[in-house]
Amino acid sequence: MTLADLQELEREAVMPTYLRNPVEFVRGKGTLLWDAEGTEYLDFLAGVSVVALGHCHPALVSAVCEQAERLMHVSNLYYSEPGMRLAARLSELGLGGKAFFTNSGAEAVECALKLARKHKPQGDVVVLEKGFHGRTFGALSATPQEAKQAPFAPLVPGFRVAARESAELPVDDQTAAVLIEPIQGESGILPVADEVLQAAREACDRHGALLIFDEIQCGMGRTGDLWAWQAAGVRPDVMTVAKGLGGGLAIGACLTGAVHADVLQPGDHGSTFAGGPVAAAAANVVLDVVTEPGFMDEVARKGERLAAGLRDLGLEVRGRGLMLAFAAEHAPEVARRLLLEEHLLVNATGPDTIRLLPPLTVSDDEIDQALARIASPD
Ligand SMILES: *Cc1c(COP(=O)(O)O)cnc(C)c1O
Repeated sequence: MTLADLQELEREAVMPTYLRNPVEFVRGKGTLLWDAEGTEYLDFLAGVSVVALGHCHPALVSAVCEQAERLMHVSNLYYSEPGMRLAARLSELGLGGKAFFTNSGAEAVECALKLARKHKPQGDVVVLEKGFHGRTFGALSATPQEAKQAPFAPLVPGFRVAARESAELPVDDQTAAVLIEPIQGESGILPVADEVLQAAREACDRHGALLIFDEIQCGMGRTGDLWAWQAAGVRPDVMTVAKGLGGGLAIGACLTGAVHADVLQPGDHGSTFAGGPVAAAAANVVLDVVTEPGFMDEVARKGERLAAGLRDLGLEVRGRGLMLAFAAEHAPEVARRLLLEEHLLVNATGPDTIRLLPPLTVSDDEIDQALARIASPD
């Protein structure tokens, strides 16, 4: 099938929710992708922060293949080892409590919202302006962006929106939780100030509310720390992870600290597919790699190399580690030109921002190549 055939099928049979670029990818290895004609591309988006170990990482491929041959699915009515092992490791590396597995980021947020409501019945959830937490009704209700919410009113009630730059949060005894992305990804890599994270922590402590950090995009080593909140030294009660967790397979999790580990009880929540052995086996490999000694330091170092290179091109850079963005006029056209002419995958988060989320395994040479392609004149 040609690209034109695929586009025809899409027009006929796929809901037009995505604005796809006119490229069909057929193969990937590390930071490289190949299209149907055999043209090589450099992937500095990594499936939007998903392909953390690069495409088709050998250890990930063999763990997935082995698990798929042995057992793919039994449901959460029985035990299988990969999910239990993953939960224990995430607890140790995360907040010391327990995990609820999901198939996506939005579902991890749904779990966190239900947990908050159960923790404080009828309580409100405070979210920050420009936050993004997903597209399902609860997660969408936590995503105060007019264009995304307006067509779907009425939304889930009980959300309050706080200014993203103010340490005065609208938190009181009615507040069940404050939900924040430490670095707002979809809105263009906008770090939330440490003082705001700190103020949210203090307000939650004062009013018995849960501090929930959405680490779906900024977690799993993306910023040069395993979790983005580590740099601010502000520890949440609950956090959501997904995207990079499965390295390309669909898995997310809502993670608690020890205190809130048993808020959700039998019958309170569930998922047919979530935490299945194949996705959990993949996530265990991702954890193996990102916790190798020195791996995080390398992410931080490579992030600095990329950021410094962008600044040398005269660009205004935001973000941390390998979660970076730069300001560009007509960003959607810039991203399209970089893809089609320079064979570099990046993404425009809006009219004036280009976002870069390369695999955490990207090499110095690939960073330098990407910088050269970004520097090339229109
Ligand atoms: C991508 C993202 C989500 C939603 O994840 P899905 O897997 O698309 O449902 C939620 N929160 C943040 C911070 C994200 O970046």
